[in-house]
Amino acid sequence: MIALARKGHLRLPAPVTCDIRSQLREELEARFKDWGAPAYRLTQLLEWLYVHRATGWDQMTNIPKALRQQLAGEFSLHELTLARQQGARDTTRKFLWQLADGAFIESVLIPANPALYSEASDRQTLCVSTQVGCAYGCRFCASGLEGWKRNLGVDEIVGQILAVERLAAAEAGGSSAPGNSRAVTNLVFMGMGEPLANYNNLLKALRILNAPWGCGIGARKITISTSGLAPQIRRLAEEPEQFQLAISLHGATDEVRNRIMPVNRKYPLNELAAAAEQYQKRKGRMITLEYILIEGVNDHLDQTAPLAKLAQRLHAKVNLIPYNKVEGLEWRRPAEEHCIAFAERLRQNGVTATLRLEKGHDIDAACGQLRLKTEKELAAQPAST
Ligand code: SAH
Ligand code: SF4
Repeated sequence: MIALARKGHLRLPAPVTCDIRSQLREELEARFKDWGAPAYRLTQLLEWLYVHRATGWDQMTNIPKALRQQLAGEFSLHELTLARQQGARDTTRKFLWQLADGAFIESVLIPANPALYSEASDRQTLCVSTQVGCAYGCRFCASGLEGWKRNLGVDEIVGQILAVERLAAAEAGGSSAPGNSRAVTNLVFMGMGEPLANYNNLLKALRILNAPWGCGIGARKITISTSGLAPQIRRLAEEPEQFQLAISLHGATDEVRNRIMPVNRKYPLNELAAAAEQYQKRKGRMITLEYILIEGVNDHLDQTAPLAKLAQRLHAKVNLIPYNKVEGLEWRRPAEEHCIAFAERLRQNGVTATLRLEKGHDIDAACGQLRLKTEKELAAQPAST
């Protein structure tokens, strides 16, 4: 852990300009054209940003100084500040970032987990945040405990990937030559916040992360998780990219969902299922239904019948996740044998079900927890430190 800045005592001034990593190539192209700068300079700039993950204009030595000055006058190049880092025994790592306005967000780096996807084992998945806090207030979740503060900007979303890759490159001996393989191969938008409630910034960030001139991460390796914002799911269905969709279901009936997820009162199951069906039909891809198993709330074996029915209708697989304890909340995970029996019953109903044994259980990997802990610690610090 490195020294923490007190909340409200800022290390960096709030950005007054637009950050360059919130810009699409075509936007920068237009700017370069206005300036009379040749197109190859833009290619060089994008390499500095997304291959070398530069943190300052002075690093971009093959770009003429005058052009760098012009860029610096128009755009900021802010780095996320690493406030805290935790690693679990099985090498899941959690990063707490402090943003320019002092707010905290989290990202979690998870090594290959065959229970999640069946791909090569050199996969590294980064769990990314999209908001500071969350307005949706699911009863079991740490991210929603203190409400919503603000949306993340495009650069703050993209910045999480770049910052983790920069750290990984430094650990590997500083190699960041063009063409080297990326430290982060897959993305899941399952960090703090509700991604689809920050739709425009999310989409722009996704396009930068997906673009060959950006981070070059394939759309099929990017999963967006939502608690069930039906209109935005429909909107996402009409976007050209094949992003993977995960729905945080956690209840197969309105009765259970209403009890733990307030969003269900706005978009009840029939509305959510219709939107998910549209997504599935437009993309022809399998959706994932995330289902946290919470003792005595949604883990009764009689829940497997409505869950299987919904999964079949949506051509979805079910990802079962034993609940990760959150400090201050009374919810608990069921016994492992019970989780296994729940998964087995779903399979007997013809559903593809995986039981995800949480890798980051011992580092508060359910997002929002490290931030909460840190904010409590900062609040408890005397003002003079
Ligand atoms: N807001 C989005 C994405 C962030 S939450 C969503 O809800 O989908 C990412 C996932 O973590 C969701 O499936 C959420 O329900 C789950 N989650 C939240 N708190 C958890 C906990 N304590 N244990 C296990 N999973 C949790
Ligand atoms: Fe927000 Fe997702 Fe947590 Fe619900 S589960 S409070 S939507 S972050």
